[in-house]
Amino acid sequence: MRILLAEDDPMIGASVRRGLTQDGFTVDWVEDGRAAEAALAEGVHDAVVLDLGLPRKSGLEVLSAMRRRHDARPVLILTARDAVADRVAGLDAGADDYVVKPFDLGELAARLRALLRRGAGRAEPVVTYGNIAFNTATREVRVDGEAVQLSARELALLEAMLARPGAILSRSQLEDKLYGWSDPVESNAVEVHIHALRRKLGADVIRNVRGVGWMLARRDSAAA
Ligand code: CA
Repeated sequence: MRILLAEDDPMIGASVRRGLTQDGFTVDWVEDGRAAEAALAEGVHDAVVLDLGLPRKSGLEVLSAMRRRHDARPVLILTARDAVADRVAGLDAGADDYVVKPFDLGELAARLRALLRRGAGRAEPVVTYGNIAFNTATREVRVDGEAVQLSARELALLEAMLARPGAILSRSQLEDKLYGWSDPVESNAVEVHIHALRRKLGADVIRNVRGVGWMLARRDSAAA
């Protein structure tokens, strides 16, 4: 899942980016409200971690404008300990959750997963499709009940496909989920990761629609 982080404090920004990246998120970091708006306009992020006290345009203004244009992506706000009124204003402006600085990175990641889960209409942490089960909290993948080891990129690719099962995803749609702005995109990388996923999950799990993209094909477990 790709996250937009808007935070002007360099220490907090760097530590949140590092922590969320370690938890398997692709993170793009901006340091002011106008840059956040420009990033949101790209439409590639799955959720937003938004500091309310941002230069150039406040987090509250960014959030209000998002909701005015019916952008329903989950937003988690970061607020100061003594700023109860800000938290109330943020939630009333359309934020889905908040954490108070200083916060625990593990809790922030868990809250984000909860928002993304709810946004996808799920209450449980495990996404299943046919014989594939992906635990979004532990990032463990099982095929027919057997644990399978995937690299971070392979996992991100599988997660993007599980988010839209049955849809054909183009190379650029998949690259958008795999790479943040600061990650170099290698040519053929999507093919390389798809190849690895097929080898680990089963050759018929991902179908290639020539000239269009790839889709996850449902394969049910053999009857026990
Ligand atoms: Ca700030």
